[in-house]
Amino acid sequence: MDLEFYKNQATLKQKEHRKTLEALKKKPPKNLDYLAQEVHDEVFRKVDCLQCANCCKTTGPLFTDKDTDRIAKHLRMKTADFESRYLRTDEDGDKVLQNLPCWFLNDDNTCSIYEVRPKACREFPHTDRKKIYQINHLTIQNTLICPAAYEFVEKIRLRTGVK
Ligand code: SF4
Ligand code: SF4
Repeated sequence: MDLEFYKNQATLKQKEHRKTLEALKKKPPKNLDYLAQEVHDEVFRKVDCLQCANCCKTTGPLFTDKDTDRIAKHLRMKTADFESRYLRTDEDGDKVLQNLPCWFLNDDNTCSIYEVRPKACREFPHTDRKKIYQINHLTIQNTLICPAAYEFVEKIRLRTGVK
């Protein structure tokens, strides 16, 4: 996967993408949730995350209490030990990874805790959620690191005709 190409394209088109997403916010099409789900599925039929893993390498998730309890249990660790070994609290007060790439990312881009991975990892890049315009700012940021998010906004732009 040519991540540099995607990043450049996302940077070049950021203004247009912002315009598209803002238009969805101002006047959401009636079928927006359905359309977003359809486009999301279409994108992920094409994009192979195992060829990428850029989210695991460059941003990492935030960990909820439920996440840390579940993962610590899976690793047979105490939650407090898990947190002090792998996590830190960021400037917003969120628990995030101490280091990137993520410790749990394997060399072949698989996740060593896939079954119990954080909710944020399961949901990234959040393109199949309802009312996508509620996270426009985040989606724009994600287009810079995630080829799937970029493709998603591109397709939404074409489908809705908002340029
Ligand atoms: S979600 Fe996006 S950034 Fe993460 S592996 Fe898939 S395509 Fe890459
Ligand atoms: S926990 Fe797994 S899916 Fe989440 S960032 Fe780490 S390697 Fe990626």
